[in-house]
Amino acid sequence: MIDRPSDELTLTLPDGSARTVAYGTLPRDVVASIGAGLLRAAVAVELNGAVQDLMTPLRESGSFKVLTEKDERSLDVLRHSTAHLLATAVRRLHPKAAIGFGPAIEDGFYYDFEVAEPFTPEDLTKIENEMRRAANEKLPFVREEVDRKGAQAKFVDDPLKLERLAELGEDEVISTYTDGPFIDLCRGPHVPDTSRIKHFKLMHTAGAYWRGDEHRQMLQRIYGTAWWNKEDLAAYLHRIEEAKRRDHRTLGRELDLFSTDPRVGAGLILWHPNGGVIRREIEDFERELIMRHGYDIVYSPHIVNEKLFEISGHLQTFRENMFGPIEVEGQFYRPKPMNCPGHIVIYQSRQRSYRDLPIRYAEFGTVYRYERSGVLHGMLRVRGFTQDDAHVFCTPEQVPLEIERLLDLVHEMLAVFGYPYTIELATRPENGLGTVETWDRAVKTLSDVLNARGQAFTIDEGGGAFYGPKLDFKLIDAIGRKWQGPTVQLDFNLPERFQLEYIGSDNAQHRPVMLHRVLVGSMERFVGGLIEHYAGAFPLWLAPEQISVIPITPDVGGAAAELAHKLEAAGIRAGYDAENREDYRERIKTASKMKVPYMAIIGKREADAGMVALRFRGSEKKQEIISVDALVERLRAEIATRALHPAGALQPPENGL
Ligand SMILES: [Zn+2]
Ligand SMILES: [Zn+2]
Repeated sequence: MIDRPSDELTLTLPDGSARTVAYGTLPRDVVASIGAGLLRAAVAVELNGAVQDLMTPLRESGSFKVLTEKDERSLDVLRHSTAHLLATAVRRLHPKAAIGFGPAIEDGFYYDFEVAEPFTPEDLTKIENEMRRAANEKLPFVREEVDRKGAQAKFVDDPLKLERLAELGEDEVISTYTDGPFIDLCRGPHVPDTSRIKHFKLMHTAGAYWRGDEHRQMLQRIYGTAWWNKEDLAAYLHRIEEAKRRDHRTLGRELDLFSTDPRVGAGLILWHPNGGVIRREIEDFERELIMRHGYDIVYSPHIVNEKLFEISGHLQTFRENMFGPIEVEGQFYRPKPMNCPGHIVIYQSRQRSYRDLPIRYAEFGTVYRYERSGVLHGMLRVRGFTQDDAHVFCTPEQVPLEIERLLDLVHEMLAVFGYPYTIELATRPENGLGTVETWDRAVKTLSDVLNARGQAFTIDEGGGAFYGPKLDFKLIDAIGRKWQGPTVQLDFNLPERFQLEYIGSDNAQHRPVMLHRVLVGSMERFVGGLIEHYAGAFPLWLAPEQISVIPITPDVGGAAAELAHKLEAAGIRAGYDAENREDYRERIKTASKMKVPYMAIIGKREADAGMVALRFRGSEKKQEIISVDALVERLRAEIATRALHPAGALQPPENGL
């Protein structure tokens, strides 16, 4: 292979010191020269930001960093190596299995195999046991660089690998990795040997077309997860179990919140009365919130002449996600995929002066976007959804204050739902519109505001939309998963395309700045996320039924009815069966299954004293005797403050918030 021993490379270590090594030196030798302890801890290295393993020759100068288990990026190396370990075990147990690809993915890895019969759960157990054996054998990952002919010879029995080999470019280094009996055509990186792989588990199998092409053969994909320590693996498995228990599609059915129906169409959500309560409460809350923050509510139509989307540019750049067109009297209409153009037209309905700005238009605007049926997922990925969309039109000088306001708004909103969050500032992408100076100024404005507030954020370099930089809020749910949250986007594009103007104090025409922002984003996705966040156990203010009134015997039916009316008169959603059709034990069971926050149980003694026995969701065995008036007051206060958990709960609610 390439051999240029006369060349020297200079490696700059994180402490700033430099090391000169021969071209082609193995990172292993460099790490060993720094320290034997470090070599034992080393998983891989980073050269100029790219991860490579300890067995791959160094071929360029640059910044050099040793990665240990403590570095986030070493996890991918572990996971990809575990995929090799999986293939090693499969080949030992199923020597005829043809091998596809085995990449690291989020939280784990997979490997594709071509086998006569799909793997069974028993197969997985056997394979996992074989993996543990191979790990204990401490098989080194041996890297070899070969020429094309040599590679073809090595993979003569692996048609899928030969296909991949044929695609490699002329000057690409072809490398193979061998651990024990298993050889793979692979670029790496891998851990030094299989004994580094300790905490892993095979998760499930699925059919997967070779190269993702449905005209090619179906392979069997085995998914697994791998971590550096036992605790992380256990936490991950717990998270998976929790996620299953919290699945919004299952809970949505059990709690009668929403459904979809093929007669309506895939990806189109039907909100049932219980889901409708939750959505209405969120909308009412948000409407009140944004009115306080100086917004005006507008409404725009669901179908719009497509010429408007030609002006906005959506027809050119977003066409494959748009439904329609619908022809009406020779004109073409589209269900709107965005609300922005409508709001812009309202802005342009009259001459605007600097005295009118900022103008903040908000709408719960339902939009329709085409998504392939394969990617639709419950409420999270749909074809029709309602955005809590708003557009702020302001002068360039007003931008910092508007960003301040938006940060306040976001904070106030997310605190109510109990979501901690992180902020990302997305900067200019390659194809960013307008000058670099404009972008730099805008990004600086955003980061200055965040810094002045002492608000932590990360930079998503080049992650902005082509038309402007963006603040992305990520919600962290009760089991640590991240969800897309509010976004605030600066737009250099639409004000130009629509020739937006206002008259300045100098009496001249100026172009306003436009901000797009959403808080919940898609109401469907947000509520889907909330269902999982709360595991269906909604805080009182959102609970479809807030309290179940349950008489123990028919003779206290009158007292129960009176209580139910009192609660309802106070605006509290009380569930009460006036006809008393069910035994009280059944009613308690139902209320508990439906995750109703409170139960008011009334027996003879309570009825006579004007009291109720109050029970709390999640701790049904305990109860508190409380007067009817005190109960009404307590619930009213808890609802008014939109409290996350009941003040009187004897135990924390089941979502553990
Ligand atoms: Zn590999
Ligand atoms: Zn917009």
